[in-house]
Amino acid sequence: MNTRTSAVLGLASVLLSAVPAAAQNFPTDDAVIEAIWNEGMENSQAWTIGQAMLDSIGPRLTGTPAVDRANEWAQTVMSGWGVEARIENYGTWKGWERGVTHVDLLEPRVRTLEATLMAWSPGADGTLEGGVVTFPKVEDAAGFDAWLPSVEGNFVALAMPQPSCRPLSSYEEHGTEAQVEAVREKRRAMRVAWNERLEGIGYERADLIAAIEGAGALGVLWSDWTGGWGSRRVFALNTVFGAATTTIPAVDLSCEDYGLVWRLASMDQGPKLRVVAESTMMDDVPVANVIGEIRGSELPNEYVVLSAHFDSWDGGSGATDNGTGSIVMMEAMRILSEVYPNPKRTILVGLWASEEQGLNGSRAFVFDHPEVIEGLQAAFNQDNGTGQIARASAMGIVSASANLADWMSRVPRDITGKIDLSFPGSPSGGGSDHASFICSGAPTFGLGSSSWDYFGYTWHTNLDTFDKIVWDNVQNNATLVAMLAYLASEDERVSRDVRASVVNFRTGEPAEWPTCEDGARETTARYR
Ligand SMILES: [Zn+2]
Repeated sequence: MNTRTSAVLGLASVLLSAVPAAAQNFPTDDAVIEAIWNEGMENSQAWTIGQAMLDSIGPRLTGTPAVDRANEWAQTVMSGWGVEARIENYGTWKGWERGVTHVDLLEPRVRTLEATLMAWSPGADGTLEGGVVTFPKVEDAAGFDAWLPSVEGNFVALAMPQPSCRPLSSYEEHGTEAQVEAVREKRRAMRVAWNERLEGIGYERADLIAAIEGAGALGVLWSDWTGGWGSRRVFALNTVFGAATTTIPAVDLSCEDYGLVWRLASMDQGPKLRVVAESTMMDDVPVANVIGEIRGSELPNEYVVLSAHFDSWDGGSGATDNGTGSIVMMEAMRILSEVYPNPKRTILVGLWASEEQGLNGSRAFVFDHPEVIEGLQAAFNQDNGTGQIARASAMGIVSASANLADWMSRVPRDITGKIDLSFPGSPSGGGSDHASFICSGAPTFGLGSSSWDYFGYTWHTNLDTFDKIVWDNVQNNATLVAMLAYLASEDERVSRDVRASVVNFRTGEPAEWPTCEDGARETTARYR
């Protein structure tokens, strides 16, 4: 491009951006709403925030050094916007750092396998080499004990192998009805047989792993397929098997690489693996929430809380669980700091720690800050992926329903056009950090995104990476949250009358309003 055309284009873009808010599809005489729209839609920083968070820092597994890096980064970034940001310790968690995982099949042929050390797993010094034995099919504990010596010097395949790693949706698209039915039935029958196999062993799950370690296994192999192409959940072994290894590595393999190793071993074709599985176990480390605050100018002791958990599993980058929610809340805070720097009430963003282990960071915050709950005007939480907000619930607070409806009526239809409002809604007892707030009966709003294959592909998986983010949705969501925060900050105080009866929406049975619990202040037994 030569200088003359760039000068002409530069002039054109100045003229375009000077055109008043014509494309906004809403009539508003509210200058702040208009300014939020312009800042959020024309000057979005969501991509820049997300790229640094997800590419450079990466996943944010509780107890890892990456969490400290993320916390310090978020504090620095928000401080740069003029937001008062602090790191609030509330307890400790076991410290761990992931190293390199590399697994090769050496015999009967060479193939590099898709493998990841499971969260918080012990590593191994140097390179391990050994064969593979599959979890036994035995009648009782005596049979298991007779099998046990065979694990010495070998890797033990602990998970049920899949008959096929082709998603059911592929059968439905390409196969006959009979083929779809057959694969469904085969998977069901294998699941039943597998559970019988586990029960036949006659050991508690926790004791099984200890026995395998005690008998001299080199490591255990695991695989937890989501049912989608190439997608697998990478957890800690104790979250899926009920017990963790304490001395040997637990390695997760892709659906088919696990299937390959299992078939070779069970058909006596002599698989041999070479495994590098590095990790560092550390002493307990402090865990902390990151809090950003814009102090209220008229009612500083009343709060609007923007809520998202910052921690993640580490099979991917934690992009949609819950990088996107964190980006939305940070970007909303940036927009507000630009266009609404002197809010009526205090606006507070909470990037919570250790949601994945039981909402620990947000629950601890609620216990440590009764003044925030007492002064809570509204909390908004988002934690289900990259989709545009499609549902909003008043979570059982009847009076808050009217406030939310009013706020939504002031937001451009471009953003609210596809949102289902759930009034009065039901209080949630878990699932995400909104539960930490709604249990107190303070106004809490759950914002639910459209799916974008969240549960099949990105939730807790190896595929939860930067590329899955749909940026215009994230930009919309941040703009919406900034508008809701502004409107909630300015509105009359939301009153707190809760629904007359609480019903468990799954069972239809009467239920109690959920009770608040403190977050775990140290590593819980399940993860020890
Ligand atoms: Zn989450």
